[in-house]
Amino acid sequence: MPTPLNDSVRRQMQKMPRRNTKPELALRHELHARGLRYRLGADRLPGRPDLVLTSVKLAIFVDGCFWHLCPQHAVVPKNNRDWWIAKLQANVARDRRKDEALSLMGWTPVHVWEHDIPTPGADVVEALWRQRRLRLARPREVVGPV
Ligand SMILES: [Zn+2]
Repeated sequence: MPTPLNDSVRRQMQKMPRRNTKPELALRHELHARGLRYRLGADRLPGRPDLVLTSVKLAIFVDGCFWHLCPQHAVVPKNNRDWWIAKLQANVARDRRKDEALSLMGWTPVHVWEHDIPTPGADVVEALWRQRRLRLARPREVVGPV
């Protein structure tokens, strides 16, 4: 990675994806307050989701605006611009590949932008969770003796 040109770029680079970031903690706090019980450390799933709601197979990612090219806040550093564009676009392409892999395993990938935390990000997760739970709760068709 090139040396950051100035402090603002350095600050962006420090937001490189890692565990327990401030937005991630804020989302976890909000989901917990709403009664959603998630798990951490789903490291064996594609893309290593930040949290998972196992019973409803939701894989949740907190996406930083800089690293995942948020349409509203993405800023490509001026220094080494081409390198950055390639790097950030590769991140996005990798996200999509991991999402496909998750879908094939029956999981639903949910990406929450850091700028959408806690709301509306938590609203989206909660709505999906409720939807899925209803689906799970639907009684199975009873097949009795003919
Ligand atoms: Zn954003």
